[in-house]
Amino acid sequence: MKQTTLIIGGLDCFTCAEHVRQAIGEVPGVVEVEVLFSARRATIRFDPRRTGLAEIRRAVERAGYVPDPPDAKDVAAPLGEFSRRILLMFGAVFGTVLFVVVVGEWFGLFDAVTQGAPPAAWLAVIVLGGYPIFLNVVRAAFRGRIIAQTLMSLGMLAAIVVGEWGAATIVVFFMRVGDFIESFATERARHAVKALAAMSPQMARVERGGVEIELPAEEIRAGETVIVRPGEKVPVDGEVTGGEATIDQASITGESMPVEVAAGSAVFAASVIRLGSLRVRALKVGADTTFGKVVKLVEEAEAQRAEVQRFADRFSGYFLPFVVGIAALTFFFTRNPLSTAAVLVVACSCSIALATPVAMIASIGASARRGILIKGGKYIEALKRADVLLIDKTGTLTLGRPQITDIVPQGRFCAEELLLLAAAAERYSEHPLAEAVRAAARLRNGPIPAADRFEAVPGCGVRATVDGRRIVVGNSRMIPEGEDLTETAALRAQGKTLLFVMIDGEIAGILAAADTVRPEAPLAFSRLRELGLKKVELLTGDHAQAASSLAGELGIAYRAGLLPEDKIAVVKEYQNAGHVVVMVGDGVNDAPALAQADIGVAMGSAGSDIAIEAAHMALMREDWRLIPELFSVSRRTMKIVHMNLGFTAVYNLTGLSLAALGMLPLPLAAALQAIPDLGILANSSRLLRHTSHE
Ligand code: ADP
Ligand code: MG
Repeated sequence: MKQTTLIIGGLDCFTCAEHVRQAIGEVPGVVEVEVLFSARRATIRFDPRRTGLAEIRRAVERAGYVPDPPDAKDVAAPLGEFSRRILLMFGAVFGTVLFVVVVGEWFGLFDAVTQGAPPAAWLAVIVLGGYPIFLNVVRAAFRGRIIAQTLMSLGMLAAIVVGEWGAATIVVFFMRVGDFIESFATERARHAVKALAAMSPQMARVERGGVEIELPAEEIRAGETVIVRPGEKVPVDGEVTGGEATIDQASITGESMPVEVAAGSAVFAASVIRLGSLRVRALKVGADTTFGKVVKLVEEAEAQRAEVQRFADRFSGYFLPFVVGIAALTFFFTRNPLSTAAVLVVACSCSIALATPVAMIASIGASARRGILIKGGKYIEALKRADVLLIDKTGTLTLGRPQITDIVPQGRFCAEELLLLAAAAERYSEHPLAEAVRAAARLRNGPIPAADRFEAVPGCGVRATVDGRRIVVGNSRMIPEGEDLTETAALRAQGKTLLFVMIDGEIAGILAAADTVRPEAPLAFSRLRELGLKKVELLTGDHAQAASSLAGELGIAYRAGLLPEDKIAVVKEYQNAGHVVVMVGDGVNDAPALAQADIGVAMGSAGSDIAIEAAHMALMREDWRLIPELFSVSRRTMKIVHMNLGFTAVYNLTGLSLAALGMLPLPLAAALQAIPDLGILANSSRLLRHTSHE
């Protein structure tokens, strides 16, 4: 099986993406196709023994699109002021023409003009003006399909047959107008995604063989040193090895608060240096960087369609035959070819297909720029129905910077030894508690000894061998049943996390750690209650007293002593009871539970691949205010989607009824069909503007 991607040129409507999908899908040997409209990209899996790239390209061409067009690069170019001006200009022209048509129709002006011109002249205008559309219609017809413009073309033909040349010409004019508006609307929808991609670093300065050379950012290799100056973008994810700077990470976190970095700091690609300059050792480049992943996931978000969208797509498939049926009835009862033509012309199925994706793409694109990665409309939709919120404790609800507060050695062991050996065993763990132990050991000036045979036990602790001694650090699950120390009760009662340390099978003491709740969390929970979320539960691998003191403070329920698989079980338990579950975690130990939840939200994901991959939504900064914000984004977006759908449905049905009753002159019907797309565009654009935390 082989997989390939193709950039598709000429893909300017959502329905076109569907055409391309079908065209490629029909090639024998193609197993799977996904066409992403917003990235203009088709991903194809095929059997190389049965077909090849050339054949797939031909299928794309036959369907009327251009595989890998020469302008493929500028897909990422931002759409600027220019397009806004075009929209304004276009709106003015469109308004004027609409006005002329309505007034003209009213006073019967067109009849007067029509009589004056010979049919050949009309025909020339129609063919010259409408041939790109007719070409599409004919091409679709050859493949056994009718498209929205097929019906409109039929309506136009009907007008010609009865000698209404003027009306036919106007129909063609508005078909072009409708086309233009649709591609404009979809282009606007793509805009937020494109603007995000345009923030990717382009050029980088790298040191090779002692000289500084400039080259495209994606050509840097991991391990190389790049130099970044004021005003430039950091081209890679990496570690600062020299220099100091104030950087702006807004492109990743959505917050333009300046951050100070110096040697040892981690920096992310697409951050901008405000002051100072840096030498950075590249760890990840191009698509592997956090920013690269976000851009890619946002582009692919379209594939995770919402239910409403599947419904609308199916509906728009039935819509064309439905309109043909109404047209047939109209003709049967009225014998009026012009009313029949008006029926064929007034309803546009494209707006139904457009209503959902335009809003979703706008919302996902705008969110990404605010540090919220959403992997698809599906999750926006699910979040609106969510009624249970489960939260991981360590690193999610707490700051994730625990401090070792007590060191209680046991028997013949001393505090120094206990701490040093524990720190050595924790050396390779990425758990926040491990970092706390290492920090405490460093503070006491001990060089942390090396460790081998490291093993992490998720949700419990770690094991390793240090200087030939077997060390275990972790919670009570890691020590033999029944073993306990007198001090544990008091420490537990203080809500502290306990780390038992065992050396060569013997309990050597306890380290107690305390962490603080994120300061913005209490407010976030009261916001969530206002939003009507009933069930909030803390899930933790820590002991019950630590969980209860935290949960009590926030007024939420809790379950303690859970292993990572228990967390998955809790998620499933709620799902089986019919709940839609949101799970918020940091991706350390809880990635499987995030993946199991209906909506898994990873917090503080910049730099964490597991979190970004496992979750359905990821917050690029650790900020609890973003959680209620997610719920609002979902509600706002779904409201706009429903408005869009409701509006097009009512609009189309009204149009159809009026036309069937002979109350809609053909030219007016043609003008009216172009309006829903504009409505959808304007309505959905509201999602781009919204930027505040409410
Ligand atoms: P939470 O569910 O609170 O986010 P985890 O599932 O990550 O916590 O861990 C649960 C418990 O397991 C911790 O409270 C700690 O006692 C123990 N633990 C996990 N990882 C480690 C580690 N690296 N070192 C010591 N203890 C650990
Ligand atoms: Mg955790």
